[in-house]
Amino acid sequence: MTPAASPSSDGRSRRAREEPMRVSALGDSRYEVATAPGNVYEVDLDAGRCACPDHQFRGVRCKHLRRVALEVTAGNVPAPGERAAGCAACGDLCFVPEADPDPVYCGDCTLAPGETVVDRELGKLVVVVETTDRRADEVEIAGRDWTVAEHHSNRDYDPRDVVVDVLFPLGRGVSPEDVTPEKLKRYSFPRGRLRRPQKGQ
Ligand SMILES: [Zn+2]
Ligand SMILES: [Zn+2]
Repeated sequence: MTPAASPSSDGRSRRAREEPMRVSALGDSRYEVATAPGNVYEVDLDAGRCACPDHQFRGVRCKHLRRVALEVTAGNVPAPGERAAGCAACGDLCFVPEADPDPVYCGDCTLAPGETVVDRELGKLVVVVETTDRRADEVEIAGRDWTVAEHHSNRDYDPRDVVVDVLFPLGRGVSPEDVTPEKLKRYSFPRGRLRRPQKGQ
């Protein structure tokens, strides 16, 4: 008999959804599941293992394993290989690959190509060309001996910030369509140097 086909399997599926359990990520693919009676079990999602008796002795896909899978699908806990981090711009919780260093930016705060944003240093509008996946302390400024992070105007910003390439300068009130590309220079700035304009800017 396969456990998946047995009636008690349906019971596990329902209990996985309905019973109060608290799931927290421990890193890699390991999770801690705390149940209402006060039991705490460690689950390895990728390996399909749980420390509870139901899994250990019966070898079934227990309600804890199922619950962890449900919480990952719902976006309540990071998937295996991911970690939770606060967005450096808005503070919202987001999930990023475990190897990605801080600071991280959520999807909403990742600047998109063509977006008009404000350079905090000069108070001027710039147009985003690309949000790169490289850090300000890794990217060298073309023709110079220093990195984006080392440039004197960028020293107030996190050297581990991602680099955003922008076109510059744009006067206030000038829309990107009004400016010919020949007038614009491409610069690399740390993400923290750029902010979205407030209404009326
Ligand atoms: Zn279990
Ligand atoms: Zn954000």
